[in-house]
Amino acid sequence: MPCPLCDDSGWKPVERDGARFVTRCECWRDTLATRLLTDARLPRRYQHCSLDTFVTYGNESLQRAVAAAKVVADKFPTVDRGLFLLGPPGVGKTHIAVATLKAIVERKRITALFYDTRELLRAIRQTYDASEAATESTVLRPILGCDLLVLDDLGAEKSTEWVEETLNLIVNHRYSERKTTMFTSNYDDKPDISDPDSLLCRIGYRMRSRLHEMCEFIHLDGADYRELPPNGDVDDLRMMWQQRRQQPMKTRALPSRANPARAQLRSPDQGDGQLKWTGGRAGT
Ligand SMILES: [Zn+2]
Repeated sequence: MPCPLCDDSGWKPVERDGARFVTRCECWRDTLATRLLTDARLPRRYQHCSLDTFVTYGNESLQRAVAAAKVVADKFPTVDRGLFLLGPPGVGKTHIAVATLKAIVERKRITALFYDTRELLRAIRQTYDASEAATESTVLRPILGCDLLVLDDLGAEKSTEWVEETLNLIVNHRYSERKTTMFTSNYDDKPDISDPDSLLCRIGYRMRSRLHEMCEFIHLDGADYRELPPNGDVDDLRMMWQQRRQQPMKTRALPSRANPARAQLRSPDQGDGQLKWTGGRAGT
């Protein structure tokens, strides 16, 4: 059925002070939001997410995260910093990130993109294959230029020099262009580079310090929603959360990694990181 206001032209006639002109119809705005959300590449299982329906079951860290997300959604685009949501798997980080993206797109009708970090790197890498139609810039341009970017599961990728360079390029570009970016990560933001489960070990000093400049870090802890039985409810979540809290941090297992991290393992004040090879002596 065509729109009764504009007959699907997207422009509706209005009359003000005796003058007649046209203005954008509401249906056009709704269609635009739908299109922008389709283009945002939200994973299907998260498409229903919303900040208003997110269940926090009395968990303060989740309440804090949702409150901060609502502030970003309300103030966008005049926000100084994006959000960095950290915490163990299954607590709702991706849910909150997607819900924030949706709220902003629906209200402000801006361009947004969601990417799992590993998937993004894979997509860029694929463009190096000569048989691929997409080029590096066709994948990168929207990542660098969209109004809002969500990078999910940062740190899960195997760190190589190329991965570091690529992620630094994206993060630094968005930082200097003052584009809002949100991240999620399963890794803890402790300043201990020797701990393989620290965000620092996964992404290196340079990236971590830049991320602290461009994001508000919010630590979430809670029940693992993925362990909630299909007929489970808020009370189950509360109970699961209590049980999880009684476990020592270490056993709230992170996904096991076949490849150990290799992000900049030197501290920034250790100079250029050149190998202290003593040269020629080996032959003597
Ligand atoms: Zn219309």
